[in-house]
Amino acid sequence: MRKLVVANWKENPKSEKQALALFRAVAKIKPVNGVEVVVCPPFIYLECIADVRRREKKRHVVLGAQDVFWEEKGPYTSEVGPRMLKSLGVRYVIVGHSERRKWLKETDAMINKKVRRALRDGLRVILCVGESLPIRKKGTAAARKFVEGQLKKDLAGVPRARLPYVIVAYEPIWAIGTGCNARPEDAALMADAIKKFAPRALYGGSVDSKNIADYVQCNQVSGVLVGGASIKAGEFKKIIINI
Ligand code: PEP
Repeated sequence: MRKLVVANWKENPKSEKQALALFRAVAKIKPVNGVEVVVCPPFIYLECIADVRRREKKRHVVLGAQDVFWEEKGPYTSEVGPRMLKSLGVRYVIVGHSERRKWLKETDAMINKKVRRALRDGLRVILCVGESLPIRKKGTAAARKFVEGQLKKDLAGVPRARLPYVIVAYEPIWAIGTGCNARPEDAALMADAIKKFAPRALYGGSVDSKNIADYVQCNQVSGVLVGGASIKAGEFKKIIINI
């Protein structure tokens, strides 16, 4: 199966000009071994990036969005539905990122509605799960139990036939943006647990050009979700060519 490198730009960069420059820099990178590169910019830049991607023949970089809503249209101020995203050429959506769970109070019930709707409308879902530091401190079994609990709730009611379109990103909360990445052996153990629910498991949390090689060695991990290092083109390039 192709390895996946997903760039989560979060609320970056500050302007459309910078977003286009970053996209063009990513598009120049030649992935090796058939790696699939997905870029998830903020909603506001999706249209201009989709336009450049089409006009400048940069379709080898796949488009993703950082969120999606569970209704397609109607009185839902500020929300964006799956078909709106699809119309721009978006193929992947991140759902359930821990920053949204924390700051926007997204619950597993909301995440489950997003997952089911996005899959039904033909998007691929990158579902983020992961334990907090107090849970990790209780040990591997406690962390696995927590993540399995999230997966049961987030994937409830998803038809078996749609599971191949779900990619689960194991993102321990304590590793995100902290410079404190999970041990590859722990990521591998969690990937094994995840694979009882969905066929592909990514790792995310402080991945950079120095630690990427450690995750490449884990056969269980099908790729990485990259935050901070994905908005530095040079650093992101090293991740792509070393995976
Ligand atoms: C993320 O936000 O999904 C993430 C993995 O961030 P970072 O790489 O900065 O830890």
